[in-house]
Amino acid sequence: MKETQTNEGGSAGPVVRMNKVNKHYGSLHVLQDIELEVARGEVVVVLGPSGSGKSTLCRAINRLETIDDGDIYIDGALLPEEGKPLAQLRADVGMVFQSFNLFAHKSILENVTLGPIKVKGMKKAAAEELAMKLLTRVGVANQKDKLPAQLSGGQQQRVAIARALAMKPKVMLFDEPTSALDPEMIQEVLDTMVELAQEGMTMIVVTHEMGFARKAAHRVVFMADGQIVEQAKPEEFFTNPQSDRAKDFLGKLI
Ligand code: ADP
Ligand code: MG
Repeated sequence: MKETQTNEGGSAGPVVRMNKVNKHYGSLHVLQDIELEVARGEVVVVLGPSGSGKSTLCRAINRLETIDDGDIYIDGALLPEEGKPLAQLRADVGMVFQSFNLFAHKSILENVTLGPIKVKGMKKAAAEELAMKLLTRVGVANQKDKLPAQLSGGQQQRVAIARALAMKPKVMLFDEPTSALDPEMIQEVLDTMVELAQEGMTMIVVTHEMGFARKAAHRVVFMADGQIVEQAKPEEFFTNPQSDRAKDFLGKLI
């Protein structure tokens, strides 16, 4: 998938770097001194109990949430506070959420072309050509004229992935992309994500799908209570977790 290969022109350093990032919600210290670097082409799966701060971490990387202190760099550039520089840098970070977040009143094709046209100034014809390649890639090109509600959840989520890819992001964030899906649709979305990973996309994936973590992750980051408690290669993490929190977490999985 040539369209999604974004390795050209990048700096040699990490694609994402979080340096002593802290965030509070009132008295809740939801991100505590987070240090995280994600290398180009690396796939990091973030695991942890509900409420441990995984979504907040993802949202901070996209500045959908402010942080109290620390720095976040995207491909070497400090994440700006606001304004046009922020919009520009946000385009470098593709995000796929649990809920599909497609524009309900726009066609599937328009959902994918809108960002490239509006944010990147791409011509309509070029944006449509790119969108059709990506929709073909995720297996929903034949749905292009439909509205999101006419598609299954799995199809909608694959459109959401295509839409994010259309911006040629430097990193893709997935926050529990399959947890709102019916079981029979989970695999088709995971398969799309595995392919992306194999093609060298830099990815941060919050998921409870341990099969994906084992298959596609280069590294597992385990969070609890707003902290990164441990990180390891998946085979090490699953067979030999170090912390009691991780042992407890893995013990509760079926
Ligand atoms: P996870 O994704 O790991 O389940 P979250 O990042 O969603 O965790 O939430 C971490 C903690 O922050 C939870 O205790 C949650 O209730 C709290 N939280 C999340 N969003 C907000 C918010 N907007 N205001 C206040 N507390 C929040
Ligand atoms: Mg969450």
